[in-house]
Amino acid sequence: MSLIVQKFGGTSVASVAHIENVARRILTSRKEGHDVVVVVSAMGDDTDKLVALAEEVDFRDCRAQREMDVLLASGEQVTIALLSMMLMKLGCKAKSFTGTQARIQTDAVHTRARILNIDIASLKVQIDQGIIPVVAGFQGRDSEDNITTLGRGGSDTTAVALAAILEVDECQIYTDVEGVFTTDPRVVEGACRLDVITFEEMLELASQGSRILHSRAVEFASKYQVPLRVLSSFKDGPGTLITNEGQSMEQPLISGIAFTRDEAKLTILGVKDIPGIASAILGPISEANIMVDMIVQNVADDMSTDFTFTVRREDYDQALKILENIAQKIGAKEVKGNNKIAKLSMVGVGMRSHAGVASKMFRVLADESINIQMISTSEIKISVVINEKYLELAARALHSAFDLSGASLDEPTTTD
Ligand code: ASP
Ligand code: MG
Repeated sequence: MSLIVQKFGGTSVASVAHIENVARRILTSRKEGHDVVVVVSAMGDDTDKLVALAEEVDFRDCRAQREMDVLLASGEQVTIALLSMMLMKLGCKAKSFTGTQARIQTDAVHTRARILNIDIASLKVQIDQGIIPVVAGFQGRDSEDNITTLGRGGSDTTAVALAAILEVDECQIYTDVEGVFTTDPRVVEGACRLDVITFEEMLELASQGSRILHSRAVEFASKYQVPLRVLSSFKDGPGTLITNEGQSMEQPLISGIAFTRDEAKLTILGVKDIPGIASAILGPISEANIMVDMIVQNVADDMSTDFTFTVRREDYDQALKILENIAQKIGAKEVKGNNKIAKLSMVGVGMRSHAGVASKMFRVLADESINIQMISTSEIKISVVINEKYLELAARALHSAFDLSGASLDEPTTTD
């Protein structure tokens, strides 16, 4: 007998009929002899609806953040109750737990709190009595008993944190896709499911635009060595196991291609090449809470240089204003911006031991006449910024040039 955490996302619990399907899956696992702790998201897009209600009130004050969490946490509370009822109807013992009742302790940063600790004593008592705990994802409580939420998509993190502390055998994340794919199957027809991927690769993919898992959840799983499996609630299948390197026989060169249009590029031209200039430019940007992704500074030519960086597209207008201000202050020549860009990243641990991945990538893009605007690399990732117009073309060309359609041992599957 083993202990597993099963997490079901919004699309998996979108209606009572869906909730019944989920309950039957949990029952099957029970019949196979597993103890199960369940974590759920809000039904369908209920969290979006709650956000929209708050937007209607339109009170943008820091005091509203606490109330925002009370509001957002209500979505998951609906699901835990309905799923527990359904499990009981099907003859199981089950009991719902809000984040507070499950003693999920977080910091006090409303709407993006971090889990600090979970007191699992009471959950353990339930498990020992054969009761299935159904825990609300995405929420906890701070040291003053305020309700907190973990940031959008945070139910994955709840599941992994519980899995880590309960020392489960596997944390299963049920979703509407059959696993982690080599790239987005809606864009590249030949995209296929991966049997195994490493934590490191998944982390890069998650932070580079693959929306399958919350980055924080992957970080957590990697830190606490929780075997994670992504699988479909709608279709039986093995899903994708996310684990440490070295489990599969041979590491593919490239595991996946991720991309995002959620990018914008800013350039400040003709700045003096002196110590402190990067900090003078990026300091005010970070003070405005704008996240900077790629940064490139050119080689100085006669004491002056150019500086380019990318931000999230939603932050573009604000970042541009700040940069224009900075340009005046430091006497830069000009500020330019472009919010019609996309970032595409190829990820694979096999890159560590193989030269030539970058040059092949650049050649493939050149053959399609796609201009690369920026490049950044890490040990297991190469990212390029290109005109967003060419994103699909680039993804397809690279997927085929690197033979990713053959990545899985199974036949490529299609969603029906
Ligand atoms: N319901 C929350 C959201 O939609 C949390 C989650 O689903 O993970 O962001
Ligand atoms: Mg969700």
